[in-house]
Amino acid sequence: MNYTITLNPAIDRLIFLDEKMENRKTNRITDVAYDIGGKGTHGSYAMTKLNVKNKALGFMGGLNSDKFQRILETKGISNGFTTVKGQATRECYVVIDRDSTGTTMLTEKGLKVSRNDVDTFQTNLKKIVNYGDFVLIAGSLPVGFFLEDLKKMIKILKETGCFVACDLSGDALKLATEVGVDFIKPNEFEIRELNDKEEELIPFLKKLNKKISYIVVSLGQEGSYCIHDGEVYRVKSPFVKEVNDTGAGDCFVGAFLAGIIMKQTIEETLRLASACAASKVMHNDSSTFNLNEVERLIHQVEISKY
Ligand code: ATP
Ligand code: MG
Ligand code: MG
Repeated sequence: MNYTITLNPAIDRLIFLDEKMENRKTNRITDVAYDIGGKGTHGSYAMTKLNVKNKALGFMGGLNSDKFQRILETKGISNGFTTVKGQATRECYVVIDRDSTGTTMLTEKGLKVSRNDVDTFQTNLKKIVNYGDFVLIAGSLPVGFFLEDLKKMIKILKETGCFVACDLSGDALKLATEVGVDFIKPNEFEIRELNDKEEELIPFLKKLNKKISYIVVSLGQEGSYCIHDGEVYRVKSPFVKEVNDTGAGDCFVGAFLAGIIMKQTIEETLRLASACAASKVMHNDSSTFNLNEVERLIHQVEISKY
């Protein structure tokens, strides 16, 4: 089985406005929709849509678990979240005004997990994972889940012989890189945090590739760089009308893993992931993409060896 781990998931409340949001004005809401947030779940959604079976794991708050489960069900995401009693999964507000590109996000801090919650989660994880499973750890860490816990979790997965993919930022990304995982996908901001000595990018990535087999640095609409087996690929994204780029990276990561799991070549995998992510940005929530669009866009992805 393949797994995604979202330690600090969210319920995204998408708020649609007919006009541009402004200060000192009553901004009237025309529609509200819900989506699941928190990165790993988006990876699960992408994998599922590409027919790669997987299960979403992580923590969810007990107080609003019904709502959380309902959204996962609607999205067709098979899951086994660990319940944190007396707490609620955070809600994030995503304001989308008509015609404008980009969205405004207001995010709550999220869950506070206890030592007991962390232990329960790690013990269960150790029991269910097997050699050869693909596991994606994505998103922020909840309050009470420390870097040491992340280190332990990665150790459990590596010792079991799992392929460990991480979509993390800041210190968590640094830790994953130091411990050595199989895949990372920093975006343009995250790579700057990681490369804090400001080394020249390509040599820095090549050095990192000795420890991390697959590295993608994503650059939004500019596409990405991928480093695998010492080769550097420059990937140019298809041009699309951007509606909401939130979750493009998550979608890319889910589709990239799906490609690897389906034993596609690295170029096919990059093509698939870039096409799925490009389709995603044409949709207004943070996970949806369309397979017909993917089929069309996949031919428009340009890949060259750097
Ligand atoms: P996330 O919000 O999911 O964390 P991110 O910042 O990690 O996103 P980005 O670098 O913004 O990730 O985007 C990931 C990939 O999505 C890009 O490498 C590209 O392939 C695709 N993508 C993003 N924005 C666009 C766009 N406007 N047009 C086409 N493709 C895009
Ligand atoms: Mg981005
Ligand atoms: Mg990202």
